Amino acid sequence: MSFTVAIDGPAAAGKGTISKAVAAHFGFAHLDTGLLYRAVGRRMLRGELPLAAAQSLGAGDLEGDDLRGPDVAQAASKVAVIPDIRAALMDFQRAFASRAGGAVLDGRDIGTVICPGADVKLFVTASPEVRAERRFAELSGKGLDVSYEGVLADVRERDARDADRAAAPMVAAGDAMVLDTSELSIEAAVARAIAVIKAAR
Ligand code: C5P
Repeated sequence: MSFTVAIDGPAAAGKGTISKAVAAHFGFAHLDTGLLYRAVGRRMLRGELPLAAAQSLGAGDLEGDDLRGPDVAQAASKVAVIPDIRAALMDFQRAFASRAGGAVLDGRDIGTVICPGADVKLFVTASPEVRAERRFAELSGKGLDVSYEGVLADVRERDARDADRAAAPMVAAGDAMVLDTSELSIEAAVARAIAVIKAAR
């Protein structure tokens, strides 16, 4: 039996942490769909045509620390506005979502476009300032030379591009539960997500 949990929201709102915790709790498989766009963005930065990259992604494309860096994130959100690129990544995501045993997918358009029939939809959000603080702590903790102001500007730029694009814009599905983590600990946010999923099973 498949059971699909869709978790959408802007960068650094906590979706990745919540998705991993939920997947571990229920024994579901987890796909961070942002990695697919990041992989395409990284190959574009290396000089490839993004559509050709999206059509030929392999396991090796999802490896490497630089995949999580800010340059690749910006490149990802640029390739993510292109409808043909989104279409090229769709079948893989849908197949993952319908696997037996349950799946959690996190991204921007999972509850609206990839899995509109998902069993549970969460939209995880937080203020841009809180998200920038979290991302700043994460990146500077990894030794990257970043400033809070720079990270905040990056977060705002990416939010605007993701929310304003015509193809699959970032928006909460009408039937998604909105979870604002601005003033929630990660433990509390995970507990709420788990409670919502339990109620739906
Ligand atoms: O979630 P993450 O920050 O890794 O995503 C990187 C970029 O990929 C996002 O800013 C967004 O433009 C794009 N993305 C998307 N749809 C998804 C997941 C990510 O457009 N489902």
